[in-house]
Amino acid sequence: MSMQNRWTAAQMPDQTGRVAIVTGANSGIGFETAKALALKGATVVMACRNLTKGETAADAIRLAKPAGSVQVMALDLSSLASVRAFAGEFIRSFDRLDLLINNAGVMALPKRVETADGFEMQFGTNHLGHFALTGLLFGLLDRTPGSRVVNVSSGAHRAGRMRWDDIQSDKSYSPFVAYSQSKLANLLFTHELQRRVDKAGAKVTVTAAHPGWTATNLQTHSGIAGFLNPFFGQQPPMGALPTLYAAVGPDVPPASYYGPNGFMEMRGYPKRVGTSSAAQNQAGAVLLWAVSEELTGVTFLSETAPQPETAMA
Ligand code: NAP
Repeated sequence: MSMQNRWTAAQMPDQTGRVAIVTGANSGIGFETAKALALKGATVVMACRNLTKGETAADAIRLAKPAGSVQVMALDLSSLASVRAFAGEFIRSFDRLDLLINNAGVMALPKRVETADGFEMQFGTNHLGHFALTGLLFGLLDRTPGSRVVNVSSGAHRAGRMRWDDIQSDKSYSPFVAYSQSKLANLLFTHELQRRVDKAGAKVTVTAAHPGWTATNLQTHSGIAGFLNPFFGQQPPMGALPTLYAAVGPDVPPASYYGPNGFMEMRGYPKRVGTSSAAQNQAGAVLLWAVSEELTGVTFLSETAPQPETAMA
């Protein structure tokens, strides 16, 4: 593989003329991803649930005098109405979409809370909202040569399993069980989206990334992890590198996954990394797609319904 050992944002190819969406771009890894793309010339739509935070973040990027531009658009992934409104406005405003970076996320909410549509918040925000967003924008991705999707997962996916009998944690809720399931779902979605893209003869490249341990606002609810952030967490510009490599790096194969190259993938420069075997379960990926279509009402690249027994085995 031609990936260099110390790939940085400085090595990103010129992005002039390209249009990117970064969800959750006002904070942490999403902010650094949006900034790096704009500095290289991209037009970046910062998709944020809080417009005030979004505009403050956009101003911070503008201060760095990017070759491209940033603009903020309202997107709350915990509301399907908001996802539909965002996608509608985006399609009216832009005639191309080169990069869809599904980055926004919430982690380890102490109590079970629901999205506007009654989904468990982590599954609803981290997976279902992004599934719906990707489906509603797929036509535009498909029409844009060289387009890519990046789903931001986590090392926590390794602890995850799909709880098909309680996917929304209605019967029992544990903050990290729900988080790791949602991050496993990000990888199953990556594989299944690429498989369907390929089967349809479309040209979109679907990738995934994780930032290791990066000190951001994400660990707010994680007690000890939040406390240890300043000692062990790498800084957000480093944490954004696997996402950026997956988005614009050279020689990125379909359905590939990138993370940091250091000890236990906790920190470092981007490299290709592996997944848990649960993330490679094709029957599970097919079932998740069907469940996601059913729950969100967004259907795309559809096939005939799967048999749940094969995936639950
Ligand atoms: P962060 O600083 O908390 O950023 C998360 C972003 O997501 C914020 O902009 C947040 O908006 C946004 N968001 C949350 N719920 C949303 C919703 N319903 N609609 C729209 N946006 C929403 O955390 P981060 O570390 O950069 O996280 C980015 C991604 O990296 C997540 O997918 C996370 O799972 C993944 N990740 C992070 C780590 C790590 O060590 N940091 C490790 C593994 C994976 P607000 O500012 O309005 O809350």
